[in-house]
Amino acid sequence: MQFYSTNSPDVKVSLKEAVLRGLAADKGLYMPEAIPQLDASFFEDIENKSLQEIGFEVLKPFFCPDIPEDQFKTLVDDALSFDIPAVKVTDDIFSLELFHGPTLAFKDVGARFMARILSYFVQGQDKEINILVATSGDTGSAVANGFYKVAGINVFVLYPKGLVSEVQEKQFTTLGENITSIEVDGTFDDCQRMVKEAFMDQELNDKLVLTSANSINLARLLPQSIYYHHGYAQLRKQGVKDDIVYCVPSGNFGNITAGLVAQVMGLPVKKFIAATNINDIVPKYLETGEYIPAPSKATIANAMDVGDPSNFVRMMDLYDSNHEVVTKKVEGISYTDDQIREGVKRVDESKGYVLDPHGATGFMALENKLKDGEKGIFLETAHPTKFPEVVEPVIGRKLDVPERLQAFMKGEPKNIQLKATLEELKTFLLKEA
Ligand SMILES: *Cc1c(COP(=O)(O)O)cnc(C)c1O
Repeated sequence: MQFYSTNSPDVKVSLKEAVLRGLAADKGLYMPEAIPQLDASFFEDIENKSLQEIGFEVLKPFFCPDIPEDQFKTLVDDALSFDIPAVKVTDDIFSLELFHGPTLAFKDVGARFMARILSYFVQGQDKEINILVATSGDTGSAVANGFYKVAGINVFVLYPKGLVSEVQEKQFTTLGENITSIEVDGTFDDCQRMVKEAFMDQELNDKLVLTSANSINLARLLPQSIYYHHGYAQLRKQGVKDDIVYCVPSGNFGNITAGLVAQVMGLPVKKFIAATNINDIVPKYLETGEYIPAPSKATIANAMDVGDPSNFVRMMDLYDSNHEVVTKKVEGISYTDDQIREGVKRVDESKGYVLDPHGATGFMALENKLKDGEKGIFLETAHPTKFPEVVEPVIGRKLDVPERLQAFMKGEPKNIQLKATLEELKTFLLKEA
């Protein structure tokens, strides 16, 4: 399969080029030239398939034969090494728990795939690859852990000073080896801008091989389609077959885009709901037809503090930028911090289920929007113990910290500090990378 840039649909590149570049030279985002259709038979007995089987069948048309099938099969098995259960929270609402991976967030899925796909493509190459990644928290930890000790690849994680929780920060600053953490005196948007500018910089690109690990990279984005199919299989196992509404807590809109791709592939989803915090650029767009980016505002669901979601163009590209069509597929809704806290508290008290602040927006959106007869499933994108500062005061007790998280907390953090300018980043990279 070939891939085009959203800015020049006529120019096609190979999988390898799309994955190694991340962002296209014309600043567009790569899209598959066609979305493959899965056979109806695939869905008929999907509840009998394992996560790995689903993953392989869903992704094969995108990634093979550029990666030979047998090697891709091994790669899928290795990347999907943890469980993704769908837990019933109310009669009509299920939680797709995507936090059972190494860093307790859904980004583990995409990051583990991307590391393995890149490592396949850099075999035998003499230059090392430098991954630049901007994070508001979870991306950094998932990418750093996904790429940790992968030969031939260096990772530089840029994160905004003081805006990332301690647990999140420790998950990438304590690793060392091929992982370098850069604390930027600015916001997440500054970090994202610096990364984008670095990719556009001629001198840097002449001297270094740079690529991104943000959800702009297809090797991260497409694998996320898997869990929509898998979530559907889990619902069928529990007797739910029709009128399924998926709700996705959204920031850069990579996750929901992967869901929309799954739907185009044939997954029977009735509707998608994008839940956001007060950074409600896309819900506003869905309502008004106008896309007005804004500086991001800090919230307690900080992995969704995005004022100009990078995957919005992909979402639009899927529907030929037609507002009317998009609004038939996707609804939007946004929540304030107070509403999120109220949701976490209420669901803990009434259902005994502890939501994280991101998942809470997803749960509440379903409560708010589900119609009679519909069943909702929201993506629980992180484990609540990743946000103890928010969750514990709200539920009035301490949470048990899973062992793999405790291990990070004992590590010694190390970082580099930079101002929020391309010049600073460039000087550093030319010296270090
Ligand atoms: C990244 C992240 C999101 C948002 O996902 P996007 O693909 O950027 O929309 C939501 N919740 C958590 C916990 C995240 O880490």
